[in-house]
Amino acid sequence: MLWWVMAGLFAFFALRELYFGVVAKSGYAEPQEISKAYVGIMLAIAVAFAYLPIRTLLFERFLTEKARVLAGSTKVAVHCNTLFDTAIDPMSLAAGHANPETGSIVFQKPWCGVLMDHLANPERMDEKGMFSVQMFAHEVMHVRGEMNEAITECQALQRHYRAARLLGIPEDIARESGMQFYQTQYAARRQTGGMQAPYYSYECAPGKKLDEKLEDSTWNHQDF
Ligand SMILES: [Zn+2]
Repeated sequence: MLWWVMAGLFAFFALRELYFGVVAKSGYAEPQEISKAYVGIMLAIAVAFAYLPIRTLLFERFLTEKARVLAGSTKVAVHCNTLFDTAIDPMSLAAGHANPETGSIVFQKPWCGVLMDHLANPERMDEKGMFSVQMFAHEVMHVRGEMNEAITECQALQRHYRAARLLGIPEDIARESGMQFYQTQYAARRQTGGMQAPYYSYECAPGKKLDEKLEDSTWNHQDF
């Protein structure tokens, strides 16, 4: 919001300069000469302030479109929280949350940025980046109606590859990302327990109770 206000303010300065180049100020007989440099600088600052919120808005649209495909429903909307949104969000401690009633998915600061960076350079395969893809799939599974964390996470895990492909990650990296997440970050929860324990299930493995046997399951890529 603050970025929009600042962008509007500097756009106003530019427009005011142009306006008084055509209409004389009160007390003046002639309109003033327009300073092109001043207008240019004001507009450049306005664009700079508008860049970040516009980029976020476009990314939210992109995520919403992909989340709808993954959820199989049009009743989904993704929102990237700003630092201020996150600070006042009662669920600020979770990386994201979803409401199946409204279809709203919220990612806390800085997770939209992490996912955006990861999608720009997926070949880096960094842990946080792979987690952000998993988180995207996780919240989409919630919005479909599943609220049990272990089941939700397992559904997301099996769709990690599908989610990665939808988000534009190349085939070979998407295969590796899903299996690597399963074998490292997911498997680690078995030992660590604590906060991560509700997100882990012994039944979440190929052939076990939570295996949905999806055609494009992450687990089809054991040989990555
Ligand atoms: Zn959850």
